[in-house]
Amino acid sequence: MHDTLLIRGAAAVVTMDAQARVLRGADILVRDGVITHVGEVPAGAAARVIDARNRVVLPGMVNAHTHSPLAFAKGCYDLANHRAALWMFQAFTGNATRDEIRCAALLNCIEMLTTGTTACIDHFPEQGFGMEQVDAVVDAYRESGMRAVVALRVFDEPYTDIYPPAGAFPPDLDARLRAAGVLEPRPTDELLALVDAAVQRHHDPAGMIQIAPAPSNPMRCSDALLVGCQALAGRRDTPVHCHLLETRVQAEIAHKRFGRSQISHLDQLGVLSDRLSAAHVIWLDDDDIPLLAQRGVVPVHNPESNVRGGSGVAPVARMLRGGVTVAIGADGSPSGGNQAMQHSLRLATIIARPQDRDVSRWVTTADALGMATRGGAAAMRQSHRIGAIAPGMQADMALYDIASPWWTPLNDPVHQFIYSETGASLREVFIAGRQVVAEGRITAFDADAVLAEAQARFAALLERNAGLLELSRRLAEASLG
Ligand SMILES: [Zn+2]
Repeated sequence: MHDTLLIRGAAAVVTMDAQARVLRGADILVRDGVITHVGEVPAGAAARVIDARNRVVLPGMVNAHTHSPLAFAKGCYDLANHRAALWMFQAFTGNATRDEIRCAALLNCIEMLTTGTTACIDHFPEQGFGMEQVDAVVDAYRESGMRAVVALRVFDEPYTDIYPPAGAFPPDLDARLRAAGVLEPRPTDELLALVDAAVQRHHDPAGMIQIAPAPSNPMRCSDALLVGCQALAGRRDTPVHCHLLETRVQAEIAHKRFGRSQISHLDQLGVLSDRLSAAHVIWLDDDDIPLLAQRGVVPVHNPESNVRGGSGVAPVARMLRGGVTVAIGADGSPSGGNQAMQHSLRLATIIARPQDRDVSRWVTTADALGMATRGGAAAMRQSHRIGAIAPGMQADMALYDIASPWWTPLNDPVHQFIYSETGASLREVFIAGRQVVAEGRITAFDADAVLAEAQARFAALLERNAGLLELSRRLAEASLG
């Protein structure tokens, strides 16, 4: 018996297919989780029928850079630059139990699913980890019904970019930092072996969960680790993910270290490829953009966290016009505010406009939606399966109710989705044809229980990390400037 689903007569289907067609009054037929027809489908063709006359249908979005452990830490501070924030994150996420990891990941999933995102790259965790932590987050994604790349964050060198401008903390603080073992680099071989074991245990590029080696940031990694991650990815067919050139100081350190740009150094190592997606990518040299395009690297734009922490504005329009495929992500909730991609898409479209009077160089609404669909699919190395509503693609779709103020009257669905819709009109979500949201509520798991649990879980975690919290606040203060 085949499982069939018909989305009937949608007010609009924003396909994001090769012609970027927007179809009015179209049907979508799904068989065993895969889209088979888009357009007109004969009545009675499916077991399940959704009346979509009041719906705009979009491909499920891909949040191509988030940190699930930070879902607990939204709203924990206002004024903090990148350095200060990273120290505080250690206390917000350190020593998490299996239940806390699950709860934070599902909390992040609730935000994504109820606003139309069906897949994510989770740069996980903020801390050292073992297989127990990997199992906990993978289990959470399985429970959520979402597609995910669990990108395992590794580093074998110090986080020099978040130390004070002078390069070192006062001696008393330095001693406490050492004793706490926060952000302590681990041996290269140990990290590669751990990631490889996790890949063998959970990586399934034809299914819902992938595992990827994910250098925290190349500047916190030895060349051996970077090359090792790329080799592992080639051997096991995984993506690679990292942070890259988020702050000016990172670009400066790279120039000092290598006498060339970070991008050019990575190219010399042979680690720039279409397996690599990289978050932020703000502080580029002029020659870097053609190199990114040539090698097929996918930068992930994080507009909200980039400006909130004062890091900068990424040259997204120049990258897009230079032939680079760009994805987009919300980043962790303390930096990105929330996981509703609508905020990031709106900001991505408008953020750089005041700096350029030439309208032809502005990021368009279609560019932004492309980043959240086709761009994200490329970052996950799933372009052949997700990112568009077209025959042969997985049925990952979000349905929005046009009987809501943001869609009324229905003018241009793409402009309206980017500029007006907030996530609040989302009603149904399907992932591989499986319904995970109905009438705006999650059906895949008990979201109310997760929400009820989260408050107490974060309080317990902070209590366990009280000493670390006090230390990280002092480290954050000392790193400002
Ligand atoms: Zn990040």
